[in-house]
Amino acid sequence: MGDYMLSFAGLSMGRHTFRYRLDDAFFACFPEGDIRQADVTVDLTLERTERLMRLHFDFAGRFKTACDRCLNELDCPVAFQDEVIVRFTADTDGKEDEDNLWWVEEHRDKLDLSQYLYETVALQRPIQMFCPEDETGRSTCNAAVVERMGAPERTKPAGALSEDNLAVLRSLKN
Ligand SMILES: [Zn+2]
Repeated sequence: MGDYMLSFAGLSMGRHTFRYRLDDAFFACFPEGDIRQADVTVDLTLERTERLMRLHFDFAGRFKTACDRCLNELDCPVAFQDEVIVRFTADTDGKEDEDNLWWVEEHRDKLDLSQYLYETVALQRPIQMFCPEDETGRSTCNAAVVERMGAPERTKPAGALSEDNLAVLRSLKN
């Protein structure tokens, strides 16, 4: 994806800034993910020296994803920073990229950031994400969908009154 190609050809030593916008169209290129309707701004500060580039990313925005229990739409805020060191080398043989250390051959003059940007934002989504509970501690999931999907009910602590018990007690009080 051309818009997410970091070109450092002829970039002088020192600090440079770039901005990327991750929107619906960007995440549509990764259909395997759970992210929809995103609006995330990435501010990149690049510090170039003779042998390496220090990339400091600042992610801010939000995306929507589906509740893992009822598929209701949930809003997920995004606000975090990440840093990657890019080292130039004559030969990348035997040099493996790590999470925050990438090796780049000296003759190259650009880097495709799209996969990195996607994975980094996607990791912000918790492995399990559910609709919030209301003020009485009851799940706000779509009950009809939960029933249809056969998802297990949230386990209640032993001895706790069930919602049905509470409803009966309330009706007795009135
Ligand atoms: Zn839900």
